[in-house]
Amino acid sequence: MVIVMHEDATDEQIQRVIDRVVASGFDVHRSTGASHTVLGAVGVHRDFDHRDFELLEGVREVIRITQPFKLASRHFKPEGTIVDLGRGVTIGGRELAVAAGPCSVESPEQINTVAECVAKAGAKIMRAGAFKPRTSPYAFQGLGEKGLQMLRIAADKQKLFVVSEVMDPSQIHMMSQYVDIFQVGARNMQNYFLLRALGEQQKPVLLKRGMSATIEELLLSAEYILSGGNYNVVLCERGIRTFENYLRNTLDIAAIPVIKKLSHLPIVADPSHGTGRRDKVPPMARAAVAAGADGLLIEVHNDPDHALSDGAQSLTPLEFSQLMGELRIIAPAVDRHLS
Ligand code: PEP
Ligand code: MN
Repeated sequence: MVIVMHEDATDEQIQRVIDRVVASGFDVHRSTGASHTVLGAVGVHRDFDHRDFELLEGVREVIRITQPFKLASRHFKPEGTIVDLGRGVTIGGRELAVAAGPCSVESPEQINTVAECVAKAGAKIMRAGAFKPRTSPYAFQGLGEKGLQMLRIAADKQKLFVVSEVMDPSQIHMMSQYVDIFQVGARNMQNYFLLRALGEQQKPVLLKRGMSATIEELLLSAEYILSGGNYNVVLCERGIRTFENYLRNTLDIAAIPVIKKLSHLPIVADPSHGTGRRDKVPPMARAAVAAGADGLLIEVHNDPDHALSDGAQSLTPLEFSQLMGELRIIAPAVDRHLS
């Protein structure tokens, strides 16, 4: 249930509603929008009559949410969530958020070179993995904390924010020193211990759609993080498995407008994992922006032919910079901007 308060509801009225909701056995999540306050009442609860809440002073409207996700629902924050990274960089606002970088951190030389290239092309966020969830246990597993150190140094030199994958709750504390956004990979979208742990801290979380997950399952995974009190969640469409096997995955572009309608959370697209082939990344990146994505996650490598992971889907610095130029032309057509 979502309780929308009147624009001129007083703090006392809001508090009385909160007390009543808590007394009825719900947890309360408060969203203070530009014009009015919205209260999300969630939890396992006894029978209740939502009209009881409609009658409380200061209440404008009570909406019973029939979808299983509540806090992730658009009703909870109709104006949309903007995740603020600082220094004027946001995800979910008018400006498109582009995170670019290699699949994995490999060496100081590699990560510094790529950081310089992606910053020059206009990206504000650097992506790179130090803990890699590889399908084979014999494949390169990432450089761990040493990799994160290299990534942070390279990103700081270029004034870039950092997003990197966390695979286990035990890594959160250590990784907090190095990352600005925690990435939850497709393989961990339903690792509920990890999601709960990320809900108990305040750094933004980039939650990737599982390769066999429905949109509803993705939003329910987001709900785990939100219900812990961390509202800084960004969703990511990274391709799903379908009967079509020409490309690595099927990038579900339609999921972008569907999610925009269902949820207030920002959604970015990852055309690199979504296609698995470098030549297909620019057209899918352009399509995602045209479809309303709030940003992109793109793999870029200075020497893709020798990359330790995902070289085939990594753009060269030149290809990335050309793509950014094209996105700057497309963005205004859909009321967005890319500086
Ligand atoms: C990645 O971003 O490098 C990655 C492993 O992505 P995914 O979890 O989508 O496969
Ligand atoms: Mn990758």
